[in-house]
Amino acid sequence: MAFHRAHGRLMVEGVPLSDIAEQFGTPAYVYSRAQLEANWKAYNTAFGTRAHRIHYAVKANGNLALLNLLKRLGSGFDIVSGGELARVLAAGATGADLVFSGVGKSRTELRDALLAGVGCINVESAPELNRLAGLAAELGIEAPVAFRINPDVDPGTHPYISTGLEQNKFGIPMREAPALYREAAALPFIRVKGIACHIGSQLTDLSPIADTVARVLALASEIEAMGIALEHLDLGGGLGIRYKDEQPPAHADYVRVLSAIPDRYEIHIEPGRSIVGDAGVLLTTVEYLKQTPARHFAICDAAMTELIRPALYEAWHGVELLEAPGESGVAATYDLVGPVCESADFLAHERELSLSAGARLALMNAGAYGFVMASNYNTRPRPPEILVDGGAVHQIRPRERMTDLFGMERPIP
Ligand SMILES: *Cc1c(COP(=O)(O)O)cnc(C)c1O
Repeated sequence: MAFHRAHGRLMVEGVPLSDIAEQFGTPAYVYSRAQLEANWKAYNTAFGTRAHRIHYAVKANGNLALLNLLKRLGSGFDIVSGGELARVLAAGATGADLVFSGVGKSRTELRDALLAGVGCINVESAPELNRLAGLAAELGIEAPVAFRINPDVDPGTHPYISTGLEQNKFGIPMREAPALYREAAALPFIRVKGIACHIGSQLTDLSPIADTVARVLALASEIEAMGIALEHLDLGGGLGIRYKDEQPPAHADYVRVLSAIPDRYEIHIEPGRSIVGDAGVLLTTVEYLKQTPARHFAICDAAMTELIRPALYEAWHGVELLEAPGESGVAATYDLVGPVCESADFLAHERELSLSAGARLALMNAGAYGFVMASNYNTRPRPPEILVDGGAVHQIRPRERMTDLFGMERPIP
């Protein structure tokens, strides 16, 4: 693990995190190149010589420096917006590296994706197919297409991060898929490439994935029986990570389940969280300790604006002191909260810690869905992002300045 403790200090790749906090201030996100690359390679190695393609889900963390490192490893990218398209191209990806997912792609987004030569567009509805077919014909560019089907499988994860249930907005119901494939195959500027699905995030059990594989294979047979060839099957992202005591499956076991897919199909996956989640932390400083009749609060300089997962999904993130507490530490059961004016603004509940004002902490596993979900609520500048690579510490995005926040606003005459 790239994040570890040595002589009481929390380190990343041999660099004390308190040194980074000192240099760049807090709050700050810190990422490890070694951990990021190890996570990507763990998938790649598990596939071995089996034909496969890993499209990193950019929405988990889209910093250009991280995207560029993944591109150098040979990664493709799963994008969900025109913004992410522009971002991955700026990071050095080419159109062929990309799969475009998402339930509400606009005309502009689809046009830009076609012009960029995107590898596959995962279509999620009949009206989207019509829109895409029209644009493709207009541009004279053949659109490579997979349909994202909704396998109606319960991933057994938090309802807000389940996507493959019939009641979710995502995908096309299984029973409607064959007719859409037939329609698509007959359209002049549409080229059917495969089947896509994605059942949810933070999956810790392989049985929903095995069910999904079985359903996708059944659909593939049905489609091929209509004389429509398929090149790839895309099983989405979603492998979980260990935040607290979860036991996510090993990469090898996950790939074993996917290997029920016959060799004639290329297997595509779109992992996000499991590539970048444990490769990042959020550093924060305790501003005040505040005791009320009911609670011990540690009021931190980070808030839901920097890490919204606890407020949004009641997610649990480990909290680690960067340095041993020392004599001024007060041992208690703390609620860690931020300065934002919302009662939902908390980072962690009921943690046994020895804290003093000024103590520096790391919120662990904040590499995925951390910075990307950060906001400027309460006119808070977003923190810097730091990437550690061996002994070298790189600032890959500076802290926002106040002019970045309101410099574009204009009073009226
Ligand atoms: C969010 C998402 C992913 C990535 O999910 P993780 O849980 O971060 O691995 C992959 N594919 C699609 C379509 C998604 O929406």
